[in-house]
Amino acid sequence: MRATVCPVCGQPYLVRFDSAPPPRTAVTQRWDMWRYAKVMPLGEGEQPVSLGEGLTPMHDAPRLARELGVRRLWIKDEGLNPTGSFKARGMSAAVTRARTLGVPGFVVPTAGNAGAALAAYGAAAHLPVRVYAPATTPRPILDTICVFGADLQLVEGHIGDAGKQARAFAAESGYFDVSTLREPYRIEGKKTMGIEIAEQLGWRLPTHIVYPTGGGTGLIGMWKVFAELRAWRWLDSEGTLPKMIVAQAEGCAPIVRAFSAGEDRATPWENPMTHASGLRVPGPLGDRLILRALRESGGDALAVSEEAIAAGTRRVSRATGIDAAPEGGCALAVTEQLIAAGRIPRDAEVVVFNTGSGASYRF
Ligand SMILES: *Cc1c(COP(=O)(O)O)cnc(C)c1O
Repeated sequence: MRATVCPVCGQPYLVRFDSAPPPRTAVTQRWDMWRYAKVMPLGEGEQPVSLGEGLTPMHDAPRLARELGVRRLWIKDEGLNPTGSFKARGMSAAVTRARTLGVPGFVVPTAGNAGAALAAYGAAAHLPVRVYAPATTPRPILDTICVFGADLQLVEGHIGDAGKQARAFAAESGYFDVSTLREPYRIEGKKTMGIEIAEQLGWRLPTHIVYPTGGGTGLIGMWKVFAELRAWRWLDSEGTLPKMIVAQAEGCAPIVRAFSAGEDRATPWENPMTHASGLRVPGPLGDRLILRALRESGGDALAVSEEAIAAGTRRVSRATGIDAAPEGGCALAVTEQLIAAGRIPRDAEVVVFNTGSGASYRF
């Protein structure tokens, strides 16, 4: 079965497990995200296509917490994943599943990091990869895509334009389209971030999670797995789930605009512009799922300026030693402004995502 989107509503599919709920002891002694293999889409005896993705550090940052005026603040550093971003998690899961389905190759449109990750996992699975990326993608990321032997196609325009070309190529070649939310397994890979946060905090959850949002895969995945963790009784405290917070750039903020207007879907952003290239997603396919997670969790959404993103990036790096990507800087800037405005309370325990490596953006 080649799962894509629902032919009726055009929305993404989500994976449901119909086996008995696994106990927490199902976590295996393996030091990457596949330690959670028992709650991931992986058949009996099937080997994941893995490069050591996940199990990233959760840095306690008491000094930043004090400066921003909040009880506790951690930075989940996803920049340490293979190819320098959390796209590795989604691609590891998606390539694993698609290889089992016997696809001839993979294609993806990307703002950059998804293409680099797919190129690496395609190489690991010994299957060909074609990537459609805007010509404006940071140079180090384009170089990484080529290192793994992928066929890189540069596109004039943004990721939406790249998506059209990728879908046309998928239709003619039979290559599997791994676009954000056009298959359900990247979400399963990214949901491991939510399990990790719980495990790293001793099977409890923070009060707030600030997530720099492009397509929203990670936010949707974490919100999905929090409900699963609760249903499986893996959490020690049965308190409320974290408030999910979307961080975006003022130059491309479709989710913030829709959330502020009380809409349940987003309209595409015209002329998307930001140097945080992972956030340059004008019309996310999973808009309704993102907005639903915000509403259900009592969350929030805020966009900040390019200057605030740059300042936030410097601040993360200088205050913690983490080599932050601009997307991580955006998340910190949003956290700062929401605390200052009283929209994140002073007694909050906040996890801020740094989603990529700063090194990928220096050229
Ligand atoms: C893709 C990407 C994002 C956005 O992730 P989504 O889960 O699709 O919203 C944020 N930061 C970086 C560095 C990315 O590569």
